[in-house]
Amino acid sequence: MLLKNCRYIITQNGSRAILEKSDILVQNGKIKKIGKALFAQSPAEIIDCSEKIVMPGLVNTHTHLGMHSLKGACDDEELFEWLERLAKEEEKLDAKKVKENTKAGLREAIRFGTTTIYDSYKEPMARAQAFGEAGINGIISSTITGTESFSRAVKFSESSLPENVAPAIAANSIYACPEDVLKKVAKYSDKKRLLRRIHVGETRKERFDILEKKGKLAVEYLDSIGFLGKTCLLVHCIWITKGEIARIAKAKAKVSHNPVSNMKLASGGVMPLAEMLAAGVCAGLGTDSVASNNNLDMFEEMKTAALLHRHHKWDPKAISAQQILDMATIKGAQCLCVEKRTGSIEVGKQADIITLGPDENLLPINDPVSSMVFSANGLNVDDVIARGKILLREKSFFF
Ligand SMILES: [Zn+2]
Repeated sequence: MLLKNCRYIITQNGSRAILEKSDILVQNGKIKKIGKALFAQSPAEIIDCSEKIVMPGLVNTHTHLGMHSLKGACDDEELFEWLERLAKEEEKLDAKKVKENTKAGLREAIRFGTTTIYDSYKEPMARAQAFGEAGINGIISSTITGTESFSRAVKFSESSLPENVAPAIAANSIYACPEDVLKKVAKYSDKKRLLRRIHVGETRKERFDILEKKGKLAVEYLDSIGFLGKTCLLVHCIWITKGEIARIAKAKAKVSHNPVSNMKLASGGVMPLAEMLAAGVCAGLGTDSVASNNNLDMFEEMKTAALLHRHHKWDPKAISAQQILDMATIKGAQCLCVEKRTGSIEVGKQADIITLGPDENLLPINDPVSSMVFSANGLNVDDVIARGKILLREKSFFF
């Protein structure tokens, strides 16, 4: 496959190079060459990109696709009431429905240009099958709340999975998991070199409850039981202090930022993103489930993140469009420990590539990165190529 004469290629490589009027040759699922005047074996393999912005497929670091049918099911509650209300609906979701939901979620995510997703929920094999059928990169876990669910999660992570799916291990949260289970999750993830994930610091209530019960702030507590580390992904991290940020940075743990979900659930406060980035913390973006978002549009997530932090700091320089785009691509991939194979357009990497056409809202293009963060939305995505296969072509599905 040859992406020919790309108007712009936002590579997201080490120097964040933006190429003009260049080609990308894809072979055997990988990016074989980037340059001018490259040749395809047959004209049928050529995608004319002369009017398109070409960029890496987006990376969503936090979803629960198995809940897709609960979009709009409970829109006006705070987290703990919301969780309680949804739990009743979630009980009704069996493996078949979870698979159906995951397929619907994948369709939505792909339509919006996402090619890598971290997904956690129940019925992991059903979800893994859905990812297998869709073909994008899935990092999948089975949510753990106790000893029994820990055993189930271990069993899943040791199962044979579709080749585009990698297992991870996920503790729900400090408040939903006993300490011995959290320690087991950390130990197992270290032993098997698996990504481990936990929700933390989502609400003020959680912060004070943990302080009261454990005598420590949430991240201090996780640090004290050996949960932080290079393969640890902390989701939300709104209600945390500078001291906790220093611990995250020291441990090289990663953070998933979910501004739309946080604002919709009225979590209050603002994740200290600028402070995290200044401390060298690797942060990615995530939509969270469609029950709290209510879509999987990572372009919307990018713009919302940029606006939130600028507004909050009274500073239009608080976060740049480039930093936001990094979070949705290469930094997101780093959060999921898959940056060696995706998150940028570079020779040797998997061909996870999207194109956006010259829709009216994207014109004129003075700065392609600005266009992607501030002007674009998911429906501007024309083509989606994941692992070298076309999944969306001129806005029509191919799977
Ligand atoms: Zn979550």
